Amino acid sequence: MKIAVAKEIEICERRVALIPETVAKLVKQGLEVFVEAGAGEKAFFSDADYETAGAKIISDSAQLWSEADILLKVSPPQTREDGRAEIELLKPESVLISFLNPLGNPVIAQQLANRQITALSMELIPRSTRAQSMDALSSQASLAGYKAVLIAAAALPKYFPMLTTAAGTIAPAKVFIMGAGVAGLQAIATARRLGAVVEAFDIRPAVKEEVQSLGAKFVEVKLEEETVAAGGYAKEISEDSKKRTQELVASHVKNADIVITTAQVPGRQAPRLVTEEMVAQMKPGSVIVDLAAEQGGNCGCTEAGKDIIWNGVTIIGPINLPSSMPVHASQLYAKNVTSLMQLLIKDKALEINFGDDIVDAACVTHGGEIRNQRVKEALQAVAV
Ligand code: NAD
Repeated sequence: MKIAVAKEIEICERRVALIPETVAKLVKQGLEVFVEAGAGEKAFFSDADYETAGAKIISDSAQLWSEADILLKVSPPQTREDGRAEIELLKPESVLISFLNPLGNPVIAQQLANRQITALSMELIPRSTRAQSMDALSSQASLAGYKAVLIAAAALPKYFPMLTTAAGTIAPAKVFIMGAGVAGLQAIATARRLGAVVEAFDIRPAVKEEVQSLGAKFVEVKLEEETVAAGGYAKEISEDSKKRTQELVASHVKNADIVITTAQVPGRQAPRLVTEEMVAQMKPGSVIVDLAAEQGGNCGCTEAGKDIIWNGVTIIGPINLPSSMPVHASQLYAKNVTSLMQLLIKDKALEINFGDDIVDAACVTHGGEIRNQRVKEALQAVAV
């Protein structure tokens, strides 16, 4: 059975789906691994490193895609420079494992179903204890939370820690983190390590203890509705609750030197947490890093992929932050996809077992059908 690692063609994607260390483990299991020439270059893994690990390097991209039994990628498939869609290159009944964004771009699921591809979407791995080693959303969100703080610190015209010097005392920076999921918690930990005073807010009350255990203050809002959906994710809240949370967070935004927003609701546009009016109240020189920029932004002033200065406040809307740390991002992602593959391979052959809840949840297309109800609904909404 051939496992293939494609070279990413998305312009700002520096990650690679397998690193040499994980290739070596698969080869040891008796599996054949093929790596597209240059696939690991942007993450500092050379073709020679992969060859040493036991992979075969393939220069012809079309050949790699068309011969793969399992094709591994990071970003969703795209159209290549020669005009051919990558999905069209896949062998019918082969397996594709990648981030696919099937709720945001359900058309991709239709295209995969049309090609009879068994596609597993890394976004659809359940957030269960057993699936933890496969949870690429978490591994990558953690990198994003860490990097967001470093970006904010570099843009802030101030120190982070409190300093007592002969020339006077410097007050510590005040950091306000909105959304205390995986990225938010890592952002709290990183800002604390740099010496900032940190506050955090989330509509899920369950995160209060985690926030406090990291040394941050939890900003609590009591809402009269359920804020947690199945799987522990946040729900979209009512207009009234949105108004109440905005009123509560306004004073914390105003007093912060840095605001880092990470709030998301799966399959929906990111909730608007920081309005233009709130930004107008912030001190000049303050910084906002909006990790939800690609999902429409938590801040009303954010422009995805841009750093803008609005009323003296720097607003940064980074895209694909994990890709800016490609060595560790690829290392963690490689572990995630390799763990998932172990559920699909029995005696060196493919065995798709929908009795396994992880395979069942992550598999978005199989046998010409879209298997996920939410993706089907998203596709219908696009078609209307
Ligand atoms: P996410 O990226 O979907 O959202 C980030 C955070 O934004 C969440 O904490 C969410 O509650 C918050 N948020 C959403 N709307 C908001 C609003 N209007 N105001 C303020 N905050 C808002 O979340 P995630 O980091 O992917 O984690 C989602 C859930 O999955 C969490 O409960 C997490 O604990 C859980 N999880 C479980 C596992 C596991 O058990 N293996 C692994 C990872 C995450």
